[in-house]
Amino acid sequence: MNTYNIIIITLLVFIIGNIIAFIYSWLVLYTDMFKKYRIQEKKYKPGIFLQRLPLIALNIFLILALTTVSLYYFSGFFNLNTPSAWWIIPAQILIIAFVDDIWFYAAHWLLHANKFLLRNIHSIHHRAVHPHPLEYMYEHPLEWMAGSIGVVLGLFIVSLLMPVSIYAFWAYGFLRNIHEMNIHSGIHSFINPYIPFLKNSEDHDLHHSRVKGNYSSMFTIWDRVFETTITK
Ligand SMILES: [Zn+2]
Ligand SMILES: [Zn+2]
Repeated sequence: MNTYNIIIITLLVFIIGNIIAFIYSWLVLYTDMFKKYRIQEKKYKPGIFLQRLPLIALNIFLILALTTVSLYYFSGFFNLNTPSAWWIIPAQILIIAFVDDIWFYAAHWLLHANKFLLRNIHSIHHRAVHPHPLEYMYEHPLEWMAGSIGVVLGLFIVSLLMPVSIYAFWAYGFLRNIHEMNIHSGIHSFINPYIPFLKNSEDHDLHHSRVKGNYSSMFTIWDRVFETTITK
C-alpha cells in the first residue's frame, strides 16, 4: 500500500460516512420514516436542507483537503501491517476516542464560557435548535478545524504506546462520523443506551435546545466529573 492508496481509502471512508449522513438527513426531513422517533416535535423550517449546504460543503472540502495534505507528508506515521493481536485495533480506537473526547469537552466548554467565541464562532452551530443529522458539519470552519485536533492528539498518544494501525485510524474516522451524525439526528438513540459511558442523541439534542450543559460528545465521563450534565 503506497501513500496514494492510503489517501484514497481515507477520503473514501470520510465520503461514505458523509453520504450516509446526507441520506439520513433527507429521510428525516422529507419523509415520515423516523417521525415517531423524533426527540423534539418542532417542525423543520422549509428549505433548511439547502440553507445548510454551502457551509457544510465548505467544511467537507476543508477536511478532505487537510486530510490529503497531512497524509501526503505523514502517511509513514501509520503501521500498515495486519495487527498481530485481535485487541490492538479496539484498544487504539478506545484510546483515540478517549483523548479526542477530552479535547472536545475542553474546546466545547470554552466555546460556551467565552462570550466572544460563543457569539462569533459557536453560535453558527447553535442555529440548529432541533438539529437534523447533517448539522454535525454545520459550524464555523475554525471550530470544524479545531475539532480535528482531538483526533491528531489521540493518534499521537497511541504512537507513544505502540505503532498506530492505519486500520484503527480508518475505523475511528468512520465511527466518529456516524456517532456525530447520530447525536445530531434529532432521533432517539436505539443502541447507545446499551453501551456504558456512551453519549446518546438525547443528551446532545438537549444541549442544542438549551445552549448549555452536556459538553462532551462521545462519553458521559467529563460532564459527570465537572458536573455539567443536564437532563432537562
Ligand atoms: Zn452539536
Ligand atoms: Zn455548544
